[in-house]
Amino acid sequence: MSSLWLDTTPPFAAGASLPASTEVAILGGGIAGIATALHLAAAGIDVTVLERQSIASRASGRNDGQLLLGLGEHYHRIHGQFGPERAALLWSFLARNHELLRAALQQHGIDCGLRQDGGLRLAETPHEWTELQQAAALLSAEGRAHRLVPVDELERWLPAGRGYHGALHLPGEAIVQPVAMVRGLATAAAAAGAHVVEGADVARIDGDAGDFKLALHDGRTLQAAIVVHCTSTLARGLDPSGLLARAVFPFRGQIIASEPLPAAVRAGFPSYAMSSNFCYEYFRVHGDRFVIGGKRWSVKGEELGILDDQGHHPDITRNLLAYLHEHFPSLRAVQFPHLWTGIMAGTPDGLPLLGALPGRPGTYALLAFNGYGLSFAFLAGRCLAELLVDGRCAEPAVPLFAPRRFAAE
Ligand SMILES: Cc1cc2nc3c(=O)[nH]c(=O)nc-3n(C[C@H](O)[C@H](O)[C@H](O)COP(=O)(O)OP(=O)(O)OC[C@H]3O[C@@H](n4cnc5c(N)ncnc54)[C@H](O)[C@@H]3O)c2cc1C
Repeated sequence: MSSLWLDTTPPFAAGASLPASTEVAILGGGIAGIATALHLAAAGIDVTVLERQSIASRASGRNDGQLLLGLGEHYHRIHGQFGPERAALLWSFLARNHELLRAALQQHGIDCGLRQDGGLRLAETPHEWTELQQAAALLSAEGRAHRLVPVDELERWLPAGRGYHGALHLPGEAIVQPVAMVRGLATAAAAAGAHVVEGADVARIDGDAGDFKLALHDGRTLQAAIVVHCTSTLARGLDPSGLLARAVFPFRGQIIASEPLPAAVRAGFPSYAMSSNFCYEYFRVHGDRFVIGGKRWSVKGEELGILDDQGHHPDITRNLLAYLHEHFPSLRAVQFPHLWTGIMAGTPDGLPLLGALPGRPGTYALLAFNGYGLSFAFLAGRCLAELLVDGRCAEPAVPLFAPRRFAAE
């Protein structure tokens, strides 16, 4: 089961063969591994990315392509969970991620359908509208760009939408075609000197800092001074400390995409990063297609603990279609021939892991973005590269992501 993005993007063409040794070995060629490799290579470090399948073949190629602010949550809820100071740090980290990412896409001439019309958080209920107003009050107090859209103005903002109770527009959000973006960044990393090796499935890591030996399933080996885990939840067994297995859990998201829409229908959908129901349902247009995911909460078990992205849940598909038919009557006659799933990585506190793995000198991790890695990882990769090269990173949010917060007592 492949995504619309994977089906329509040319393969990564700058792949390298496996060198005998490297300074930094990065496991995983999703957005986390590729962003880290790009920043390390740009700093002149000898870096090799080992990707089991192809670049962006897992979550990074199976998401909704939304560059979000605020961990997808409404801002007052982030305040509630983390406190005002940390909430502000997290928001600013994401805003800075988007700024740097946009600059990199421009610098490297990466054409990935970036649309910067902002995001529209839609209120599914009158209660959610009240919460959006609370979020807006905090954003106003902190001078963060936003606009509340009352229900009587909604038709102007989203002509095709029905049954919402207002919205919050966040001009700093954007949409991209994620596979084109990650493969474009991988090409830039290769041009900067990174070895990006597809079909390199790491089976074992032996040795110690400065002299790790990575064994691939096909018998090849690589010597490395430093190892970085960017494998999401997909290779937790490669961390002998057990921290990744203990602190990171998988969950599955599901998306459907339409056939090309008739022009009159397409005209009802601006190119925002859209969501409703506290971001549980998320949608956007891509070219002349409509793409929507979510409804994980509507089935027993909420798709927690699932590692299989070749299967799907038929009830989720049905529930996504029911959502569409309720909120977008113009889509009632439209077919949705594309269906796919992707595996995300979560942590108990909702924040990613970025930094050294405790008790394992020379071993680092950048993973577990709790469903928002596309929005997080470009700056996070730069922060990790700075930690490796300079031993420190000035981004004030980085201590919040330290893996040692999950170290065994
Ligand atoms: C349905 C869905 C919708 C989403 N929507 C959004 C969104 O709109 N906005 C947003 O910000 N985020 C979104 N996300 C989340 C986002 O896609 C992820 O957080 C992000 O892609 C994670 O990137 P990653 O590099 O950590 O992991 P991945 O992209 O999963 O990459 C990990 C890589 O490691 C490789 N690997 C695993 N084991 C090994 C091994 N032993 N050896 C070598 N390689 C190995 C895998 O093949 C894989 O390519 C969504 C995710 C899903 C599934």
